[in-house]
Amino acid sequence: MNHPRLATTPAELSKAITELLEATGKDRPALGLVPTMGALHQGHAALAQAARADNDVVVASIFVNPLQFDDPDDLARYPRTLEADLALLGEAGVDIVFAPAEETMYPGGAPLVRVSSGDLGNRFEGAFRPGHFDGVLTVVAKLLHCAQPAVPAEYRAYFGQKDAQQVALIRRMVADLNFPVQVFPVPIVRAEDGLAESSRNVFLGPEQRKDALVLSQALFQLQERAAAGRPLDLPAAVELITSRGGVELDYFEVVDPLTLAALPAGPSDTLSGPALALVAARVGSIRLIDNAELSG
Ligand code: AMP
Repeated sequence: MNHPRLATTPAELSKAITELLEATGKDRPALGLVPTMGALHQGHAALAQAARADNDVVVASIFVNPLQFDDPDDLARYPRTLEADLALLGEAGVDIVFAPAEETMYPGGAPLVRVSSGDLGNRFEGAFRPGHFDGVLTVVAKLLHCAQPAVPAEYRAYFGQKDAQQVALIRRMVADLNFPVQVFPVPIVRAEDGLAESSRNVFLGPEQRKDALVLSQALFQLQERAAAGRPLDLPAAVELITSRGGVELDYFEVVDPLTLAALPAGPSDTLSGPALALVAARVGSIRLIDNAELSG
């Protein structure tokens, strides 16, 4: 197993990255960055493995970003498992772990200047979590700057398709603000029962976990209909979720994968191109999100 180097300040991170990039002896080595909030599971491992497969040097960051939590209780109880996280990242072959303290990332407290996620950040997750995506984009911008190679190198960053709206927004930030990095989405990793892996799944009791499965079941139903060229009938998939006691649906929509604009998905609407089904629901006090790509 690899023992990643631990960096806790941007200066330490930059030094470690330069040393490892130079040690490759290549003219233009590749650096992969995997930003996380820790409490790592197989979904994060897939990101680290994808970065490992494509790059000479891999950095993962672990930082629970207070700026993206609209609910102080959610922030306070967010799981923190640094030792286990380092072991998982070492197993995945990560070279450097950047785990800064809150004071290091936000020395003067919350930053005055932030990245605005615009209209795209106010919909779906943003509508239920005001300010969430401005917080996400601000910390991702900072992390992308902190890990920016100081010597000639390819620069790539890896994000999970589990957070589809986040991926769409990060792509827009990178394009709109000319970040010199390539964004790579990584497919959703699911548990054997179909539940999308999430750091919040540890809070689900056994019954709640069974209830939560209705989300992936409803998504798979849409995927099957799309693949068979049948009408999507989103209302029937919605009904599957709302008829399940213990699950409170927040939203369930079929959208364009890039713009997240709503697409027609009624009982007589068939797909005319790629689409994404986005769902969010609460199981008890645990908020879960999931999504699936639909194609005819
Ligand atoms: P988080 O630690 O929850 O902020 O997630 C860090 C990264 O891991 C994000 O890019 C997430 O989209 C990604 N991720 C989380 N869960 C999964 C999953 N089940 N499959 C794939 N990627 C995931």
